[in-house]
Amino acid sequence: MFGIWGHDKAAELTYYGLHSMQHRGQEGAGIVVNDGTELNVHKDLGLVNDVFKHAKFDQLQGRVAIGHVRYSTQGEKAASNVQPLLFHAQTGSLALAHNGNIMNAYKLRGELEKQGSILQTSSDTEVLAHLIKRNGEGINENSISDALNQMVGAYAYLILTEEKMYAALDPSGIRPLSIGLLGDAYVVASETCAFDQIGATFLREVLPGELITIDDNGLKSIRFAEQRKRSLCAMEYVYFSRPDSNENYVNVHASRKKMGKELAKEAPADADIVVGVPDSSISAAIGFAEESGLPYEMGIIKNRYVGRTFIQPSQDLRELGVKMKLSPVRGIIEGKRVIMIDDSIVRGTTSKRIVKLLKEAGAKEVHVRIASPAITDPCFYGVDMSTKDELIAANHSIDEIAKIIGADSISFLSEEGLQRAILKDNSINQGICMACMTGKYPVQEEEEKEVTYTS
Ligand code: AMP
Repeated sequence: MFGIWGHDKAAELTYYGLHSMQHRGQEGAGIVVNDGTELNVHKDLGLVNDVFKHAKFDQLQGRVAIGHVRYSTQGEKAASNVQPLLFHAQTGSLALAHNGNIMNAYKLRGELEKQGSILQTSSDTEVLAHLIKRNGEGINENSISDALNQMVGAYAYLILTEEKMYAALDPSGIRPLSIGLLGDAYVVASETCAFDQIGATFLREVLPGELITIDDNGLKSIRFAEQRKRSLCAMEYVYFSRPDSNENYVNVHASRKKMGKELAKEAPADADIVVGVPDSSISAAIGFAEESGLPYEMGIIKNRYVGRTFIQPSQDLRELGVKMKLSPVRGIIEGKRVIMIDDSIVRGTTSKRIVKLLKEAGAKEVHVRIASPAITDPCFYGVDMSTKDELIAANHSIDEIAKIIGADSISFLSEEGLQRAILKDNSINQGICMACMTGKYPVQEEEEKEVTYTS
């Protein structure tokens, strides 16, 4: 999510901000601009560049905008679900962008439908719009707070009306959300890399349970809920976020490097070189090499022109497809004992393929070291972690995993090691959510049995 208040080039800057956060969602992208009298939207399925290739920015004039890139977990990949969602009422318009996952969305939809609401999308984001309006007193801090307090799950929201922009974060702060300044303009973004992209400076993070209102009078903060212990998603640090982003005042690359160092202390191996799987594991591999005193080598190359859009290979050409994306450097690998670092194992498919590639390139031994604990439980907070039966570590012992992926040995970082790598101290604001690794969920919706909708 990206939002900006008070800049002549609001839509263009939102485009740049979204582009820098393309890794957060590749399914769809959109921008809503406030031209001073009404809200206008441009959005579609596809990557940011494709969606805005033919966009006429002169028709997206205005000093205020919000934008979104979408990645859905269980919700439909439908055009109608691409955000921001825009609603019109006699009293004014409302645009919404959401990052996270609402666990009780199914129940809330049911209640809304019983009261006569007809929803257009299968996205949980629409539920918030109805709840805000149901209050009957217009769109303001009160009605938004009321609506937010009915949400159970992980959420960061950007809400735009003709008069104001609002930014809110769930009481556990599961997803990241930061505020920056560009001259006199306020900027809000899921990741701080978006600020660097447009030349904005970081001001502060949105706090768990905080609702921020931005208008021409500046920034105002209220609490819509009591702040719980922070549970910022550990996978944001492990895999999801860009290394140049800071989250909860910790740099992502630096934390990944520390994960590698912790791993090297916990699970050293007799080997000749350390190799990382590009791109997300490079930082951890550098840390592992530094700590172990072994050389870090570029043993695997990623073809930068193979995006997520490339034609999915058919089953019999799948191996070729893997090689299209990642190639081992034979001159480096051949005859060596290799420590292969990956950031995480979900289903085990990536590690298995890469071990095979390294062995085919002549590696004498491949010792797999994973810079996060084994993922054993699904995520209900907005990261695409498959169901338990698809998670390799939920169904197999460490030795079995090593055998399945063909590694000579395998080790995962401990939970304590991950915490040490991310947390500055153990104060209340420094907690992380490791539910997918521990099965301990910081937010629970007991009654919610049906499939959840997601943004
Ligand atoms: P898998 O191949 O299923 O074991 O997935 C693990 C690989 O996917 C690792 O190399 C990670 O970099 C990456 N990864 C980790 N979490 C996710 C996620 N939620 N979505 C997509 N890729 C992921």
